[in-house]
Amino acid sequence: MELIDGIAVSDKLKNDIAQKVIELKQKGKKIPHLAAVLVGNDGASQTYVNAKVKACEKVGFDSTLLRFSSEISELELLNEIDKLNKDNSIDGYIVQLPLPKHIDEQKITQAISPAKDVDGFHPESLGKLVLNLPGFLPATPAGIVEMLRYYSIPTSGKHCVVIGRSNIVGTPMSLLMSRNATPGNCTVTITHSKTQNLSEITKQADILIVAIGKPEFVTADMVKEGAVVIDVGIHRIEDKSKKSGFRLLGDVKFDEVAPKCSYISPVPGGVGPMTIACLLKNTLLAVNS
Ligand code: NAD
Repeated sequence: MELIDGIAVSDKLKNDIAQKVIELKQKGKKIPHLAAVLVGNDGASQTYVNAKVKACEKVGFDSTLLRFSSEISELELLNEIDKLNKDNSIDGYIVQLPLPKHIDEQKITQAISPAKDVDGFHPESLGKLVLNLPGFLPATPAGIVEMLRYYSIPTSGKHCVVIGRSNIVGTPMSLLMSRNATPGNCTVTITHSKTQNLSEITKQADILIVAIGKPEFVTADMVKEGAVVIDVGIHRIEDKSKKSGFRLLGDVKFDEVAPKCSYISPVPGGVGPMTIACLLKNTLLAVNS
């Protein structure tokens, strides 16, 4: 079993980006500038946004954090989006999800200028992904593709099973794995909450990508010997023995699944750091869009 080290792979990606920023500076060109919009005080969202802003600073990007109260109306937020679309100093921006219930997330996502859509959630970005055209790939699926590439994991002709069909992970992931590309060219099965006999399907997977959002859901009996397992889930579980007061778990029961795998990504230290690195990659791309 080989561990897929998301920290090492993301460090390599971030070092390459930092080098490109140095080159831009030397040529007197514009430094990439990422803005992040955070609505409300959700603890997890604040942690994710802070990590993204910090990562920007580390590679030499400019970054701006825009915070709004959870009371902001949909119209007011749309006005802020409009300002960001028109602001030439900002190359790309993200709106951290989830948003408060009174705001329609689809409306907000679709108001983001496709040229600044570094999260890759806009319909135009998703359309380009489907058509295998260059564009912004959603950061988490893109990060998984980068990990598979880094470890030269064979994908062509393999059976890839994806658990979960969310717009940000499962659905784009299944599309990326079935594209005529490397990594890609898999035969893909996408499973979801209405899927029957899930473990019969997962046991056929050469590559199993798990984005179900349930801690330690995938157990050893659901996995084929020699499979590649990518764990997307992140869960904070209260643990008083830890200084932080919690520990992180994935969607996969790592200790019992890992011995059966040829490769497995851990939580923490797997997909999470790759997501941030791919957001930075998209921001660099946005400078030229
Ligand atoms: P989601 O809740 O939007 O989607 C979960 C999916 O699981 C749904 O499509 C649902 O149909 C499917 N599902 C539910 N029960 C099922 C069952 N019994 N069998 C098969 N499928 C079932 O979640 P999401 O946004 O895709 O995130 C999934 C997990 O990944 C979460 O833990 C989230 O925190 C984590 N995540 C991590 C990163 C990262 O950077 N590491 C990024 C995004 C999400």
